Amino acid sequence: GSGDEKELRAPICCILGHVDAGKTKLLDCIRRTKVQQGEAGGITQQIGTTYLPVENIRERTSLKAEVTVKVPGLLVIDTPGHESFSKMRSRGSSLCDIAVVVVDITRGLEKQTIESLDLLKRHNVRFIVALNKVDRLYGWKPCHNAPIAKALKNQSVDVQMEYRWRLTEVVTQFKENGFNTALYYENKKMKHVFNIVPTSAKSCEGIPDLLLLLVRWVPEIMIEKLVYDDTVECTVLEVNEVKDLGATIDVVLINGVLHQGDQVIVCTEQGPVTTVIKDLLTPHPMKELKAKGIYKHHKELRAAQGVKIVARGLQHAMAGTSLVVVKAGDDLQQCEAVAMQEIDRVISMMDENVEGKAIQEVSRIRTCKEGVYVQASSIGTLEAIIAHLKRNNVNIAVSCWNLGPVNKEDVIKATAMLKRKEEYAAILAFDVKVMPEAAGLAAESGVKILMPDTVYKLVDSYTEHINEYKE
Ligand code: GDP
Ligand code: MG
Repeated sequence: GSGDEKELRAPICCILGHVDAGKTKLLDCIRRTKVQQGEAGGITQQIGTTYLPVENIRERTSLKAEVTVKVPGLLVIDTPGHESFSKMRSRGSSLCDIAVVVVDITRGLEKQTIESLDLLKRHNVRFIVALNKVDRLYGWKPCHNAPIAKALKNQSVDVQMEYRWRLTEVVTQFKENGFNTALYYENKKMKHVFNIVPTSAKSCEGIPDLLLLLVRWVPEIMIEKLVYDDTVECTVLEVNEVKDLGATIDVVLINGVLHQGDQVIVCTEQGPVTTVIKDLLTPHPMKELKAKGIYKHHKELRAAQGVKIVARGLQHAMAGTSLVVVKAGDDLQQCEAVAMQEIDRVISMMDENVEGKAIQEVSRIRTCKEGVYVQASSIGTLEAIIAHLKRNNVNIAVSCWNLGPVNKEDVIKATAMLKRKEEYAAILAFDVKVMPEAAGLAAESGVKILMPDTVYKLVDSYTEHINEYKE
């Protein structure tokens, strides 16, 4: 048969761009639909991913019934725009089918826009440019949720002129960076020239255009890639400590089906960990917010989907690696070996930095015998911290690290340094709670707990702490 008859999975899309370009707001816009009226149209949100079923997109874009959409929906991955999160951006962009690069029309291409473009080029990922904040053009008349052509027709000659001028400027900047781009409805060579969709994440003009490009044009250019495959393909995005659940992993299921009770292997620095899926979770759609608990439980989930997995032994799973499912009759040892091959791939991926300079791997946190204790809410945060320290050439010796709230046990481990090197008897706690017993014990034993609230302040509070000892 032809490719048309094959079942397709949802395309996976990530949103990239410079800080403040409007990535989060654009994603809000994409998600929002009818939240105000208490309906979310089946959209699910979770840390990092949003699934939009096709019915929802059809409704929002007023798509006529006779127009076919070949994919069941769209899975959007949100990546933090902060500079120190470049590793997470790299991870997101390497597993997505398509990217949306958000550019602020009033600012043009910026540092992290270019960094994002480099990443996409390297991973061979096509992209759509969301030329955002068109409502900031002086005199713009908002046309909520309107397709961009319609919204533009409504504008004064002055606004239209400024718009054209800024658009041309951005197209030139893309050209200077080696990319041919064009306004999508004027683009006659969509296979070679990247599409630009003007948008406003404030009044949502152009959002219908963007959604339609994602579900109609994307399958057209990569139909083979989107053919659903039964073989599980699943990447760990994040490792999180969740109250009452313990360490969980957030994964992107790219292909196949995951079941409760599946035997799976995750990679850790200490080697493969084989465990059994206890629970598969997605957040409740917005309208079910009042439902008990935050998450919806599933017996099985089919790709493409963002999923939180509950199982024993996930604590040290490494983000960026694959989750391997052991099928009946599989040789466990062989599966474990396959799973660990991934580690090399991830590390080599992380070894090159965007500018091409070699930097050390960040997913493996180098520990040494003498150093401070670092504690963070997730692997991603931990990596961001390490990346930030490296970027600023700050060398903080780390003897131990852990995820989740600071417990008594962590303080006990940190006290070991009191006898070796007193200034290292400190816990750098980032984005985590400190349990009262832990705080009490720390005060008693002389372990210092530092709680900087931003990555930037981390260096300051650490150096301040060390200097106090030197004096
Ligand atoms: P991010 O850092 O790329 O995620 O950017 P945010 O989504 O956090 O947006 C940064 C700032 O720009 C916020 O104050 C937003 O309200 C604002 N913003 C984002 N998109 C738009 C837009 O389309 N129009 C206007 N006027 N403001 C926007
Ligand atoms: Mg943001």
